[in-house]
Amino acid sequence: MTKKIMLSGIQPTGELHIGNYLGAIKNWVSLFEKYYGYFIVVDYHAITIEYDVSVMQKRIIEAAIEYLACGLTPDKCSIFIQSHVPAHTELAWIFNSVIPVAELERMTQYKDKSKNNETNINAGLLTYPALMASDILLYQPHAVPVGEDQAQHLELTRMIARKFNARYGEYFIEPDTIHSNVPRILGLDGQRKMSKSLQNHISLRMTDKETETAILRKGVTDLNRKLKTDKGNPDICNMYKWHTIFSSEDEQKECAQSCRNASIGCVDCKRILVKNINNELSPIREKINELENNKDYVYDVLSDGAKKANEIASSILNGAKEKMGLLSHRE
Ligand code: SF4
Repeated sequence: MTKKIMLSGIQPTGELHIGNYLGAIKNWVSLFEKYYGYFIVVDYHAITIEYDVSVMQKRIIEAAIEYLACGLTPDKCSIFIQSHVPAHTELAWIFNSVIPVAELERMTQYKDKSKNNETNINAGLLTYPALMASDILLYQPHAVPVGEDQAQHLELTRMIARKFNARYGEYFIEPDTIHSNVPRILGLDGQRKMSKSLQNHISLRMTDKETETAILRKGVTDLNRKLKTDKGNPDICNMYKWHTIFSSEDEQKECAQSCRNASIGCVDCKRILVKNINNELSPIREKINELENNKDYVYDVLSDGAKKANEIASSILNGAKEKMGLLSHRE
C-alpha cells in the first residue's frame, strides 16, 4: 500500500536542541509507519534575518546530520536543502500574486520578527508565508506536522491553496495539520521557549558533562524551595516537567513524593533527570559523531533527496503554470 505523504522543515539557525527534538523530530519519526516524509532544511527562510555568512554552510550540514542522527533515515524519507530545489522560489512568486498583502501583514511571526529586526525589515520577512506555502504545496502532502507557532502559517497555506484553486481551477490539496502529542517544554529558565540564542537550551550535541553542568547550574526549580529541608512543589517546578518527559513513571512518582516531603534535594533530583536525558540522547550523539566523520554520506543523502524533490516539485509547478495559462518551456 502506498504511504501517505508528510512534510516539515527546520531552519539551519543553530544546533538543534531537545525542544526541537521533542516538539518536532521525535514526532516525525513516530509517524513513519503511516507516512513517507519530505524533510527540508529551509535555508532560504533563514536568510530573512541577520545571520553569519561564514558559518551558514556549516549550519546547513549540521542540520542535515542532526536530522539523520535522530532517525530520519533515507529509507523512510527524503531530506534535502530548500535552495537546491528551484521550484520553491518559483511557486512562491506565483503565490505572491494570489495572497492579499493584508493577510501577510497580520501574521504574528511577521510582527514579532519586524520588532526584533528593526534595522532589517525586508520584503522576505513579509512574504515568508508564500515561500512556506510553496514548500508545502509542491509535495501535495496529506499532513504537515507543525508546532503551535506555525499553526497560523499552515492556515494561511490552506487559504492560498483555496484562493489559487478558486481563481485557476481545482489543483492544490489543502493539507491537514498533525500536532505533536509531546507537551512543549520551556527552556532551563522555566520562563521562555527553549532557544540557543537565549542560552536556556540543551543541545543534541552537548556532551553528557555539559548537559549535567547546564541542568545543575541553570535548571530552574520550585523557587519557593530555598533549603533542602523545605518541602517543594513539583507541580510548579520546571525540572519536574522535564522529568515527566524523560523519566520513568516510577522515577517521576518517587521524585514528586520525595520533593513534597523534603527527603530529596534538588541537586539529586536533577541528577536523575540528567541521567535519563543523557540516556535518551546517547545514541543520537554517537550517530552525530559518526556522521561528522562521514560527510560524503551526508552529501549523498542530500543529493538523492534533492533529485527526488526536484522531480516531484517541477512536475507540480508545471501543472500549476498550465492551470494559470502560462506557456510551457519546450526543450
Ligand atoms: Fe523540582 Fe525536584 Fe527540586 Fe522538587 S526536588 S523542586 S521536583 S528539582
